[in-house]
Amino acid sequence: MQATIAVLPGDGIGVDVTAEAVKVLKTVAETYGHQFSYPSGLVGGVAIDETGTALPPESLDLCRASDAILLGAVGGPKWDDPRAAVRPEQGLLALRKELGLYANLRPVKLYDCLIDASTLKPEIVRGVDLIVVRELTGGLYFGQPSKRFDGPNGREAVDTMAYSEREVERVVQVACDLARNRRKKVTSVDKQNVLSTSRLWREVATEVAQRNPDITVEHLLVDNCAMQLIKRPAEFDVLVTENTFGDILTDEASMLAGSMGMLPSASLGAGKRGLYEPIHGSAPRHAGKNVANPIATILSAAMLLRYSLGLSAEADAVEAAVQRTLDDGYRTYDIQSPGTTLVGTREMGDLIAARIARS
Ligand code: NAD
Repeated sequence: MQATIAVLPGDGIGVDVTAEAVKVLKTVAETYGHQFSYPSGLVGGVAIDETGTALPPESLDLCRASDAILLGAVGGPKWDDPRAAVRPEQGLLALRKELGLYANLRPVKLYDCLIDASTLKPEIVRGVDLIVVRELTGGLYFGQPSKRFDGPNGREAVDTMAYSEREVERVVQVACDLARNRRKKVTSVDKQNVLSTSRLWREVATEVAQRNPDITVEHLLVDNCAMQLIKRPAEFDVLVTENTFGDILTDEASMLAGSMGMLPSASLGAGKRGLYEPIHGSAPRHAGKNVANPIATILSAAMLLRYSLGLSAEADAVEAAVQRTLDDGYRTYDIQSPGTTLVGTREMGDLIAARIARS
């Protein structure tokens, strides 16, 4: 097949890790006979330096004209001034909003050979293979009013959590569709004992569950969910939740797998086009030093193949190549343990690319 994959490396190690993911995608294209092109665009701090804005219109046009977007990371101390009018993260938020990417998928899978990298006991984390679906364009982060003002008792501020049934319905459906190809279980997370939006969320999630009778949908309060994720993480399959709850729970869940350098993500909307990026940031002190772990970005590229291009066999091949590379004992610094071989970013990319095989 032919596909255009927009590559937005961004800042810091974003540049290092996206190069390795493109290397792996090129090997996939060669192995399976596809023609992928990789036009590149600016986002984040580098875009601010060159154009004065975190997401120049050319980058947005490029993304709109592409089948999928692979992004590295944005930000760094150079652009950290809180008084600055333009900030690198604005580029990411604008991209998600402009492309209508309402479902953020974060798989957390613990590779057996990395079990010691987790901060939890091996018997608790063994077998963890879950995916959190976070609602990304509504909820507390977007509701209006959101403002600060002077009231009778001094400074006051307000944020608003708001959802429509349509917003809840579509993201819970994404979770059910994902579960269908997995262990067929969805945990819908809310705070329905306190919040009206959560009562609507649970009502709509229950209706979506009725339309997906092959999927078991359970409901958990968000505080209980935070506890259960640490107590019995291996029992979860797909979790779906509100924007803010999802932001917090995804960071908690990411720790189950050990390193930030291992975890991919996808942001999806109504069409096939999605945005794929590692969950980590730009780790400025490691930038350009050939030390960052590229696996999160390579696994993001596997998600890109699966969800935007519909190439499941190719996605499986990338995931299997990552597994084999780890099984063969190669590690970047962040996942290193005694008896393993330390490699750099480029070497890890080479090792994974060399293990891509057609099944
Ligand atoms: P970070 O994720 O960049 O780094 C956190 C820690 O994890 C650091 O010790 C780093 O060295 C390590 N790490 C992260 N990715 C790694 C990888 N691939 N391989 C090996 N080690 C890795 O988070 P931070 O330090 O809080 O933020 C740095 C910058 O990144 C900030 O400017 C922040 O705003 C930005 N940021 C961007 C995104 C994004 O682009 N999506 C996300 C988070 C933070």
